[in-house]
Formats: sequence, structure tokens, C-alpha cells
Amino acid sequence: MTSSSLAFQPSEAVQRVERTSLRTAQPQSRGGLISLAMGEPDFATPPRIRMAAAQALEDGHTHYTDPQGDPELRAALAERVGGLKGSAVTPGQILVTHGGSAALAAAILAVVNPGDRVVFPDPTYSLYADLVNLAGGICVPVPLRPDLHWDLEALAEALHGAALFVFCNPSNPTGAVHTAEELAALADFTADSGTLVLADEAYSELVHTDAPFVSALQVPGLAERTLYCQTFSKSYAMTGWRLGYLAGPQEVIAAAARVHVTINGSANSAVQRAALTALNTADADISRMRQAYGARRTLMLDELSRVKGVHTRTPQGAFYAFPSYDASIRSADLVRHLREHGVAVRPGSEFGAAGEGHLRLSYAAAPKDIVEGVRRLGRGLAALT
Ligand code: PMP
Repeated sequence: MTSSSLAFQPSEAVQRVERTSLRTAQPQSRGGLISLAMGEPDFATPPRIRMAAAQALEDGHTHYTDPQGDPELRAALAERVGGLKGSAVTPGQILVTHGGSAALAAAILAVVNPGDRVVFPDPTYSLYADLVNLAGGICVPVPLRPDLHWDLEALAEALHGAALFVFCNPSNPTGAVHTAEELAALADFTADSGTLVLADEAYSELVHTDAPFVSALQVPGLAERTLYCQTFSKSYAMTGWRLGYLAGPQEVIAAAARVHVTINGSANSAVQRAALTALNTADADISRMRQAYGARRTLMLDELSRVKGVHTRTPQGAFYAFPSYDASIRSADLVRHLREHGVAVRPGSEFGAAGEGHLRLSYAAAPKDIVEGVRRLGRGLAALT
């Protein structure tokens, strides 16, 4: 069948996303290129978790599961989320999803009506805007302050009448960890409103602050209106396994489950069994990887401090640095130029208009690649002037 005979137009929903999406496909890598562009751990999934999946297949976990998630996994997740929140959470308040991505999609499509305003920080993870546009909602990006934290005054203003606020903490792409004070302000701004909050805490185990990480679920006034989005991808190095979950008020979770079962069906049954093993046995693996990322963060900051015309705020979480640069060139053009110098990074503009003038570098890379990659970045920048 030739495509020329088809008078096909993608749906309006797809066209809205295509018109607005900032997500860029990564160009093909060629030999010798060092990539600091990836958004995933370079570690293999810990052996115990891999073995649990193989065993689950052997044990016959090859059928559909409960559409809302394997009951044993949901019970374990309810206990974990309840522990974080400090009050009981039932398995009915948990939805197991195909990665964090499907949890975000289920939440946004369950909550947002055409014309609804959805507020998020700018820059932020670019999937949020695409999902809001898919749902027909109106994106309201609120630029961050120069220190990459929330501009509370602008946020308070934008939140009036909003259906939803979406954010990630720690932040992709900035590496910022939002504080208890910022979260308390958010609770204040949304008090007595119908605004829901979608807290994407995908990187919550990858934090390098002295003070313990504060989840939105731990903040009085915020917890009750929070949809908590989590994934096994980052903390357990399980990106390819595609498992995440959503937790929140039962009626919202039921609506999100309707979306998820309609689009995805139940999650992979053997992977859900392996996830139980991850939850119950992999804390030491998480700390081992966190420590390695901590050392690589130091290494990257050290190297970046030697590059002229680049200014980096110390990232406190996730595995990204988000330096600004002095050169007057758009970040997408700079990224193209840097590839010619043998290093792949991401343009700040991919994460929102306010990300322009920045680059996102991942330190989930081998130490020698971090050193050589940042040196190539330095040489590339120097070649501009
Ligand atoms: N949230 C954030 C902030 C992310 O960076 C990512 C992955 N890049 C995800 C969610 C989704 O991850 P996954 O679908 O693999 O769980």
C-alpha cells in the first residue's frame, strides 16, 4: 500500500503535541563520540533483581495480572508510601504502571480537561507539556529563578484557578532539590483550592544534600492533594524494565487506573515480581550507586570549574548538571557544534524556553568519559570565540 493514496491527517491531539513538543530525537552517535546526554543509569540492574525476574518466569508469572497491579506488589507499595506519608495508605490508592511515563500520562489524562490550566516550572522534564497538550490542556510554564529554584511569587500568581501543578523533585534537568520551605509554600498557595499536585519523585533516592530529602507526601496540606509518581527506572537502574507507580487519593487513582487499563492493560507480571525483590532487598545496591554518582558529580563539577565561560550551580540530586554559558549562541546550535567536537549533551531549551542559555550534562557516565567529555566541551566552547 502506498501512503500517497491516503489522505491521512494525524489526530488533533497528535498535531497539538507535534506543534509544541520540545523533545528532540538524539542524532545518531558516531564512533568516538562521548555521550553525556543520556537520562538513565549506566549501571546494569542488580543481579538479585534480574534473577528474581528469571525465577518469576520459571514460576509461571506469564499471565495478565490485576489491572491495577500485582496485589502483593501493591500491598508492599502501599506500606512504603504510607510510611513516607506517616498515615495509612491502602492498596486501592496505588496504581502500578508501565514506567513513570505511563504513571504521568494516566494522572494527567485522568485530571485535565480541554482548556484546563496546568502549571509547571520552566525548565522541567519535557514530557509534562506533551501530555498536557495531548489532553487539550493549557500549559502555564513558570520560569525558575537564576538559582534554579521556584519563583514563589510568580508561582502563587500562576496557580490561581489551575487544575494541576506538575513538578519533579529532584529536578530533571536542573539537579535542584526543592526544599521543605518551597513545598510548604506550594501547600499554602493551593490551600482551599481544587488544584491537584503531581509530584514526580523519580530521582528521590539520588540525593546528595546533608538534610534528608523531603517528599511532597511529608508536607502537611500538600500530601492530601498530591499524586505521587515513582519509578523503578532510576534508583534501581531498571529503565528498560518499564515499571513505575502512582499513589494518591483513591478516587483520583481509580480515574488514572481507568486511563492506564484502557491504554496499557496490566503491567508485565514477571517484572512486577522482580520489583518486589527490588523493594525488599536492594537498598544496599541503591546506596552503592548513589555513592558512585556522588563521586562522579564531584568529578564533573571539578572539570566544569576549569571551563571558561561556564557557570554551574552545584546539583544536589538526580544525575545532571545544568550549567549556563556566556557564548551568544542558542543551546540547540551549541549542542550541534559540540557534537563536532566529540561530545553529546542536551540543550537547555529542550526543557522549556527558560532553559535557553544552559546545557544539561549527565554524570551517569564512566568517570573517564566525564573528564574527557567536559574537556571536549571546553575545547568546543573555546573554538567559538
Ligand atoms: N520523570 C522524570 C523526571 C524523568 O527524568 C523520567 C525519565 N527520563 C521519568 C519520569 C520517566 O521514567 P520511566 O518512564 O523510565 O519511569
